Order: sequence, then structure tokens, then C-alpha cells
Amino acid sequence: MAYKKVEVYDEHSTQSLMHAYKDVITAIGENPDREGLLKTPERMAKAMQFLTQGYEMDAKAILESAKFKEAYSEMVVVKNIELYSMCEHHLLPFFGKAHIAYIPNGYITGLSKLARVVDCFSRRLQVQERLTHQILDAIQDSLQPMGVAVVIEAQHLCMMMRGVQKQNSVTTTSACSGQFAEEATRSEFMKLISAKLS
Ligand SMILES: [Zn+2]
Repeated sequence: MAYKKVEVYDEHSTQSLMHAYKDVITAIGENPDREGLLKTPERMAKAMQFLTQGYEMDAKAILESAKFKEAYSEMVVVKNIELYSMCEHHLLPFFGKAHIAYIPNGYITGLSKLARVVDCFSRRLQVQERLTHQILDAIQDSLQPMGVAVVIEAQHLCMMMRGVQKQNSVTTTSACSGQFAEEATRSEFMKLISAKLS
């Protein structure tokens, strides 16, 4: 076999989550022993471990695993990075896109590493504001670039399917450091992430 992806779950976490989810199913008035729900606590236990795998990831290690000396000093932009996270207030998903830019200062990182840093912080219980800053800080600390900018646009299920039930609202958060504090640099970034190339 050439390639095989293996999923590994922590047995102790799976067991304690299964017990807790069985209680949740009972508490809402459902019968955890009916056929359709029999394996649900186990599926939920595994899904929750997957959705919170970011706690086990180290953003600095990810970025430094592909850190290359490079004289390139123009803006590097990776846009439309898919993002799936969970709001820490309701444990409901929020999802959308992250756009990241940095201006290298002697070092660049692998482009896929920026996407993995997004996963590292989004696969946790989060608020969008903190997520935005954590991504920025990780890149700033690891690469020491001339500046970093992060914009996240996301839809929150806790607003869409409960509470105010606003299905089309999109929350945008942004953070920047270094040269992105300058109006011209920031607006070049905003222009690049809004542009459609095709
Ligand atoms: Zn929420």
C-alpha cells in the first residue's frame, strides 16, 4: 500500500466523552439506546477530538519546520484559506475564510504552513477575535517579518440557527502589525484579497 491515512484517537478521552454525550442525549429527552443513536456518543466523541485537535498542535513548530532564508521582501498573500472553528460560548461551528499576508525580513515559510497555522488555532474552542490575533502573533514571533496582516470573514451558526437567527450576517475581524500599520501597505493588502484574478 502506497499511502494510508491513519486516524488516532485517545482512548481515555473517547471513553469520557462517550459517557458525557450519552448523558446529553438522555437529558434532552431522547433514548440513547434506540438504534439510530446507539453509536452516536462514540461518533460525537471522535468528532469532538477531531474538532479540537488544535490544542495538540504547535504553531511555532509548524512555521519553523519550513523556514527558509530568502531575500524576497515583497508582500506574500495567501487568501481564501478555509476555516472551521467552534464558538466557545455555544460550542456551535463558525466557518469562513482567512486571508493572511506578511512581508518577509530574511525568511519565508512554506505556504501550506500558513494554512496549517489557521487549523492549529481554529481547531479549538474559540472566539473569532482571539483566533485572528493568535494567527498573527504566531507568524510574527516565528518569522519576525516586517509585518503581518490577518483578515477573517466567518459565519457563526450560533447567530444563524439560534439567538437572533440572522442567516446572512458575516463577521469580519482583522489584525495587523509592523508595516501594515501604514495605510498604503494595508490598502494594497485589502486590494489583493478583494481582487478576482480570473
Ligand atoms: Zn456562539
